[in-house]
Amino acid sequence: MTHDGQVGVVGAGLGGLAAACVLGARGYRTVVFDKNEWLGGKAAVLEAEGFRFDMGPTILTKPKVLERIFREAGRELSDYLDLRRLDPQWRCFYEDGSSLDLREDKSAMRAVLEARRPGAGAGYDRFMDIAERMHEITERYFFWKPIGGVWDAILGAEGNKMATLAELMDVRLGRSTAALIRQHIPDEQAAQMFDHYCQYVGSAPDLSPAVLCSIASIQAHEGVWYPIGGTGAVPAALRKLAGEFGVEFRPATDVRRIAVDGGRVTGIELNDGERVPLEAVVSNCDAVRTHTELVGGEAEQRFMRRRRFEPACSGVVLYLGLKEKYEHLQHHNFVFSRDPHEEFEAIYRKGEPAADPTVYVCCPSETEPEVAPTGGEALYLLVHTPYMRPHHDWKKMLPDYRQVILDKLKRCAGMADLEERIVFEQSLTPQDIHDRYRVLDGAIYGTASHGTWAGATKPSNRSPDVEGLYLAGGAANPGPGMPMVMMSGWIAADTLDRDRSKAARAA
Ligand SMILES: Cc1cc2nc3c(=O)[nH]c(=O)nc-3n(C[C@H](O)[C@H](O)[C@H](O)COP(=O)(O)OP(=O)(O)OC[C@H]3O[C@@H](n4cnc5c(N)ncnc54)[C@H](O)[C@@H]3O)c2cc1C
Repeated sequence: MTHDGQVGVVGAGLGGLAAACVLGARGYRTVVFDKNEWLGGKAAVLEAEGFRFDMGPTILTKPKVLERIFREAGRELSDYLDLRRLDPQWRCFYEDGSSLDLREDKSAMRAVLEARRPGAGAGYDRFMDIAERMHEITERYFFWKPIGGVWDAILGAEGNKMATLAELMDVRLGRSTAALIRQHIPDEQAAQMFDHYCQYVGSAPDLSPAVLCSIASIQAHEGVWYPIGGTGAVPAALRKLAGEFGVEFRPATDVRRIAVDGGRVTGIELNDGERVPLEAVVSNCDAVRTHTELVGGEAEQRFMRRRRFEPACSGVVLYLGLKEKYEHLQHHNFVFSRDPHEEFEAIYRKGEPAADPTVYVCCPSETEPEVAPTGGEALYLLVHTPYMRPHHDWKKMLPDYRQVILDKLKRCAGMADLEERIVFEQSLTPQDIHDRYRVLDGAIYGTASHGTWAGATKPSNRSPDVEGLYLAGGAANPGPGMPMVMMSGWIAADTLDRDRSKAARAA
């Protein structure tokens, strides 16, 4: 079915691209604008001197979201992406020289924990049972719907509201991720590993809702994946799909304003003054900046009054081309801080880079040797840092912090000769993230999921303030990370489609 009029998507991040695919496939004449020359937003690619690095996301979970987007468009995901399942999912290194693998298979993981500490297997079973129940409830009440809070989930659910509320309490609202993990996993190193699911949303485990433990179940059931070609292959596949439905792409095109008349979207205005009339807009620009910079007025005031927005964490990435790879590393590795409490206190409360940080180390040549010249590695190091504070000058801070990161790996991850192996180097700082992706104070993952109740949800994908405005991306429901932002794009497009179909029926 084709629809009258044209709809627009501001931002070609994964959320915007997913929305464009859904809209195109459902017959909407769709145009996508992005200020950058590339499509994919943070899922950008750096190629230099025979190395290829994914610049942003590297851990792909929940491929079912992509499968749904392709299937609904009448296509098979496997014709567009070659996905490889990774197990062990992560290899974890600790300050005392020990290591621990996160296994996909629950019985394998249980055996590892039991061997480390007799009796720990039963605690892990209990934890996974709770995580599975949480996953089931989030799928039912929070995913694939434009909810903007816990009450939306209750009011939107069919049947008895008290029964829904009782079920929702099973996601342990009011408890933190860190507390739930430690209740069942007394092994502090294992607990530190499970805490790191919270880093997928750039938030502190002791400030975030326990429902984030559902990620443990998602990962155990749906796996951790690597697309051949790198995660940059994901936006490329979405772009191809959207192109097959006639979606128009306008890269290097900065949107200055979303035009609103009488409380309804009428189009957008570009930086060069061009006006594009549109029936509706999906904004993939950060949800807060959409309101403060692109919409303004009363809608901005209402949006900002509804909840307190705190940026999620930022990060420093080092892209290191190595002449020789490390054989003892897995595709995904975490080299943990000595003291997680001290680390999270620095990043999330004091707002300063951690003195002894956790370093995420990605070695993609493990799965795709072509990312580097023969025998080499396109090593990717990510350290989470606080979102930018006024006194943070990353041009000055980077050289010292780079050394902190390298020293950590030399000391704890069996990479003593790391510096001698480096033949190419580039970096990304919080300031770069801020400028390249136009986010909130350099935040990687939209807004923080802090608050053991409020942190469980994000702003709705349907703006309650401006008719015809929909939100997709890490700062909108259901939150950040590749699968979630693509789901947010699907929800925004689906909601737009439902609203327009309803209006057409009423006319
Ligand atoms: C270093 C790093 C590591 C990460 N690691 C992982 C990981 O391993 N796994 C995972 O799942 N996630 C990870 N993430 C998070 C993940 O990348 C993001 O959640 C996701 O890609 C964000 O998608 P988005 O749809 O919110 O859009 P974004 O990628 O934020 O893109 C938004 C786009 O909108 C454009 N835009 C904004 N305003 C305008 C305007 N006014 N006019 C025109 N264009 C505009 C911007 O240029 C940008 O291209 C990581 C992110 C980073 C940066």
